[in-house]
Amino acid sequence: MRRLWLALVLLGLAAPSCDWEHYALMNSVPARGDSSLNPVVRVYLGLDGLSHSAVVRAREQGAFAGWNLSRFIPMFPATSDASWTRILHTERFAGLEYGHYDPVKDKVYNKAVGGLLVHLVPPLEELPFTLPAYAQAPAYYKAFDYHASAYLDALWSYDRPFYGYYRGLDNLFVALEGRSQVQDTFTAYLLETDVIGHLRSEDDVVASLLSLNERIERFKQAHPERSFVFTLFGDHGMDGVAKPLDSVVDFRDELEAAGVATVESFEEADKVEGPAAVAILHTRVTYVAIHAREQWVSEVARRASTSKAADLVFARGEPRTGFPEGLTWVSAWREGELAASFAYDAATDAYWLPSDVDWEALDLPVSFTSGASHGVFSDEALFALSVERTYPDFFFRARTAFEPISVEFPADIVVSYRHPFMSVGYQAPISSANEVGTAGSHGAMDRLGSMGALLSEERELPPAVRSDNLLELFPALVEHMTQREVELFPSAQGAELDYDALR
Ligand SMILES: [Zn+2]
Repeated sequence: MRRLWLALVLLGLAAPSCDWEHYALMNSVPARGDSSLNPVVRVYLGLDGLSHSAVVRAREQGAFAGWNLSRFIPMFPATSDASWTRILHTERFAGLEYGHYDPVKDKVYNKAVGGLLVHLVPPLEELPFTLPAYAQAPAYYKAFDYHASAYLDALWSYDRPFYGYYRGLDNLFVALEGRSQVQDTFTAYLLETDVIGHLRSEDDVVASLLSLNERIERFKQAHPERSFVFTLFGDHGMDGVAKPLDSVVDFRDELEAAGVATVESFEEADKVEGPAAVAILHTRVTYVAIHAREQWVSEVARRASTSKAADLVFARGEPRTGFPEGLTWVSAWREGELAASFAYDAATDAYWLPSDVDWEALDLPVSFTSGASHGVFSDEALFALSVERTYPDFFFRARTAFEPISVEFPADIVVSYRHPFMSVGYQAPISSANEVGTAGSHGAMDRLGSMGALLSEERELPPAVRSDNLLELFPALVEHMTQREVELFPSAQGAELDYDALR
C-alpha cells in the first residue's frame, strides 16, 4: 500500500503538464471553419455502464425524446475493457481486464494493488515513461477522439464521480465544437457513468443522463450552423443491487473451501495433488475468470459452483454421445451439478440442445419435438427466445466467453455471481470507493448487469442488438475509426444476426 501511495504521489508531481485545459486547447481548432463543409456531424458517445433501465427512466422524465432505443446485449462476462474491444472490433486485450493470466508465460499480470493502479489510470500513454506491453492502454481507446485525458480524471472519478462527470462533459463539448469544424464524425468515451453506477445509485445515473440530455440540447441550440446527430451506447448494464460488505467475496477462499487449491501458475498447479486453479480477481465485478489445466476444468467448475456466491459456472464442455462430432460444447454448473450443456455447429451457425436439460430452470423456454433427444436451433431463434429472459442471449454469450475474441487469453472457467455477491477485486486508494457500500456492479450473465442501451437519433433500431453487431449498423463510425487508423478485427464466428428475421 505504501508503494502505491508513493506511485500516486509521483504521478501527482507530473500533473500540471497534462492538465485538461491544455488538452482542450490542443484538441480544439481555433478557427470557426466553414459550416457548409460539415453540415451534418455524427456524434458517437461510448458511455461506460449505460444501462437500459437507467435510459428508460431518463426517457420517462423527458430525456432523449424521439430517439430510438434498443436493448444492447454485451459479451459475457459483461466487463468493460473486453466488451469495448468486442463492440469496436479493435485489437485484442490480453485478458478480460488489466489483471490477467498469460498461459504462454504461465504468469498472472497486474494483480492486486498493481492492477488497481493501471485500472484507475487509463490513458497510460501520457505517462512520462514507457510501460511494458501488458500494462499499456487498450487499443479501443484509439477509436475515440476524446476520452478522460488527464489520468487524474480517473482518480477524481472514483472519489467524486459527479465532479469528474461534469468536468468530462465540459471538455467533451469543447472538443466537439472544435472538431466539428474539420470532421463530420466525432467519437468520445465517458467513464464516469460506470463509476456513478458502481458507487452511487441508479437514481444518480438517471440524473447524469438527464444532465447529458440537457447539455446536448443546449449545444445544439448554440450551434444552429450544423446539425448534430447523436448515438449513445454502453458496454454493459448495471445491476443496481447493493452489495453488503459480507457479500463481497474473495473467490480464492471459495475455491479453497470447495477443495480447489488456488495457485499463481500452472507450474505451481502441477505440484498440487488434486484440482488446482489460477483465479483472477478483477475489479469489483460480479464474475471471476479461472484458468485450470484441461483435465481439471470440469471438476474445478463443478466445485466452484458449490460456492454461495456462484449462480452459474460456465466452462467448455465434454462432447456427449449421440451427437455429431466436431461440435463445440459448453457446460453450465450450478450447486455442484451440471445444470446445462449444449453444442454449437460452426458450419451451420446452429445450436444443438439436449432435451434432458431442465431449460425451464434457467428460464429458457426451449421446446422439443416429443420424444426427441435433442433439438437444433438457429442463432436467431435462441437470441429471440432468451433476450427478454433472465439470461439474455445465453447461448452465444456462454459459447464465445471461451473464444479468443477481444481477449487473447480467454478463461477456461467463468463464474457468474449470484445477487447480491460481488468479487472483492481491487482495494481503491480512496476510502469512499471501499467503505461506502457499493450500489451496483456488472459482469454476471443475468439481465440486471447485462442489459446495456443503444440510443440513436441517426437511424431506426431493432428492439435488441447484440453488441458485436454495432459497427454493421453504423458505417460512419467504421469509416471514422478507419480514418483514425484503428485496425479492425473480425467478429466471433456466427456473431451476425438476421435482424429482419427477428422482427
Ligand atoms: Zn464498463
